Amino acid sequence: MKNRRCFLVLALLALIAAPAALAQAKKRNLPRPGWNLFSKEQDIEIGREFAKQVEQQFVVVQNRELTEYVNRIGNRLVERGGLEKYPYFFKVVQEDSINAFALPGGPMYVHTGLLSAVENEAQLAGVLAHELSHVVLRHGTNQASKAQFAQLGALLAGAVIGGGSLTGQLAQLGIGLGANSVLLKYSRNAESDADLLGAYTMAKAGYNPVEMARFFERLQAERKGKTPKLVEIFTASHPDPGNRVKAIEAQLPYMPRGSYDAREGDLKRMQEIIGKLPKAAKPAQPGQGTAAPAQLPNAPKPERVPVSSRMQSWRGDGFRIEYPDNWRAERADGGLNITPREGVVQGFIGYGVLVRRAKINNRMVSLERDTQTLIDEMAKRESNLRTVEQPQRITVGGRRALVTKLSNDSPYAGVREIDVLITVDLETDLFYIICVAPLPDYPSFEPVYQQMIRSISFE
Ligand code: ZN
Repeated sequence: MKNRRCFLVLALLALIAAPAALAQAKKRNLPRPGWNLFSKEQDIEIGREFAKQVEQQFVVVQNRELTEYVNRIGNRLVERGGLEKYPYFFKVVQEDSINAFALPGGPMYVHTGLLSAVENEAQLAGVLAHELSHVVLRHGTNQASKAQFAQLGALLAGAVIGGGSLTGQLAQLGIGLGANSVLLKYSRNAESDADLLGAYTMAKAGYNPVEMARFFERLQAERKGKTPKLVEIFTASHPDPGNRVKAIEAQLPYMPRGSYDAREGDLKRMQEIIGKLPKAAKPAQPGQGTAAPAQLPNAPKPERVPVSSRMQSWRGDGFRIEYPDNWRAERADGGLNITPREGVVQGFIGYGVLVRRAKINNRMVSLERDTQTLIDEMAKRESNLRTVEQPQRITVGGRRALVTKLSNDSPYAGVREIDVLITVDLETDLFYIICVAPLPDYPSFEPVYQQMIRSISFE
């Protein structure tokens, strides 16, 4: 969005000046961390806390050969690439999608899907170098600082004095681990910078930097192809800054050069190991298992909640709504709950949509005021309910409505959830809908929730 680094101008300048001076100048042009409200220590703390959440939600592969392989590449990039010191570690998680992600302060997780998809070790090193660059350039907390500087300033000042979990406090601002989290979804500028520093790091470590750009461009191309699902996660959180190969090629003259070493043999062996991994044991499913922790409201997250693209409709009580045909709609608490079977934990809704009507006495105030009254009522029962985004006007079924983004504790262990509240003005009643999903998953459920909201009509 903002000033995009112009590689072409840099490249042209390079042609005019003396080569040695230029190499120096280029080095100074390597991207550096931007403005940040967080300290480097807070980056590390956030990463450490989020790593615990990640390891509850993903299956970390316990294969020594595989883990050592990824660590060997990662450490080679850090050490020979001369990257700033952080407590880095590299783990493999059993996920088919093509992705790797680094948390602020150093923890990195590599999907088995990525290891299977790369064509050579340099491509894998490229993804790791790119991710490491996001860590060193502190892009996550830089973006969070810019997005919510007013609230964060107060929060971080309080965090120093009051202690407590930093990530818990960030969650109240809606800053978590989700695919759309400001901590993990990068701007195009950040992408260019991570490409540039990543490529430079690769070259120093003895990998051909062009392989990184090639792999990213391949992902971009596959995303437009027939099976976009596997690459979507990476390309959604790392938007394509465009012309990656050209941008990196333009920098090649200023990069350390040696004989690049790709050692494909090791990679083939790792891909064989992945092919033979036993199917990941799923975390306990709600309603199954022997010792159901009935008194524990916090349950492990189901591995996946299926969403059919075919819709069916429910009609009654003066309205009609469409919902995925593998979810169920049932009357509850004077309203309607529409949930996937996997999304209900011990009676708590972890994923799904609640439809309710509130009779409000003296219903003539305003939709805004009534919405606030409703949120206040909810907050009396749910002390950790927070408003993440102020109400915005929409229409639902031709009526005036407000959409307000809230967050709350999820019934799943250690996660916050997003509750999108839609309040609709039905003159005598306040009709409202709450769309629920754990914060990390909300973005992937948003499309189906929006489709459901759009389908609502009143009779
Ligand atoms: Zn990136």
